[in-house]
Amino acid sequence: MKITYYGTSGSEAWPALFCGCRACMLAKQYGGKNVRTRNQAKIDDTLLLDFPPDTCEHVQRQGLELGRIRSLLVTHSHHDHFFPHDLCMRSSNYAEGTGDWKLQVYGNPTVGRIFEETVRQYENAEDFLEFHVLVPFEHCTTVDGYRVTALAADHNPPEQSLLYLIEKGEKSILYAHDTGIFPEHTWEYLRGKHLDCVSLDCTGLIRDWRQGHMGFTAVDETTMRLTDMGCIDGKTTVILSHFAHYGDFTHQKICVAEEPKGYHVAYDSAVFEF
Ligand SMILES: [Zn+2]
Ligand SMILES: [Zn+2]
Ligand SMILES: [Zn+2]
Repeated sequence: MKITYYGTSGSEAWPALFCGCRACMLAKQYGGKNVRTRNQAKIDDTLLLDFPPDTCEHVQRQGLELGRIRSLLVTHSHHDHFFPHDLCMRSSNYAEGTGDWKLQVYGNPTVGRIFEETVRQYENAEDFLEFHVLVPFEHCTTVDGYRVTALAADHNPPEQSLLYLIEKGEKSILYAHDTGIFPEHTWEYLRGKHLDCVSLDCTGLIRDWRQGHMGFTAVDETTMRLTDMGCIDGKTTVILSHFAHYGDFTHQKICVAEEPKGYHVAYDSAVFEF
């Protein structure tokens, strides 16, 4: 299994749209891995995670081939994860060669409501898009053969944001953006499950965030508990992503802080195989 990261920032991007802070100035100065767009990742070639407004940039500059995507899992309705107008660009009015299948979109009821409100503004959207509501601890098998289980995140109540446990063959990944330290019933569900990869929210960096998002300390507590429960071990690939501009952090400075602990630090276009 393989995960490709296209966007690895918080909601405001990094450099942030209107920001003149030191972290944003450094990102503009150094470029490369320091420039982060909004949250999106892909499992193998056909399963997409989240659909931010920067999806267009990911197609134009990072080689994301949306025409191959069969399933889209949306974590929650925040705009940096879900910009549904661009899904409607899959219409035959705007796109050729998209195949005769419908793109299967999965998300919580709030995402479902926004999806419906948006697509009804476009002609024949039901011909090329299909939505499925998921709630925590339900699972489904996607058309491209992934067993997907929605788990509860700690983020943005009253909407129930979702984490995704994605399994195919012998491999599994837990995708955990955006979330604070997991709710207790999510911990209970994970007991006894071995994970080959975990992608963890690290929005706060050195800020001690534990609810809504995580920083370095909450990430350490989360991986310690996953280790104690037997979910992860030395063979598990643990990746941090969804970073906010803060202080004088650069990509390199995040790596210096976190790589000695065994974590991988995601950046836009990073690929990890596990
Ligand atoms: Zn976010
Ligand atoms: Zn900034
Ligand atoms: Zn969010």
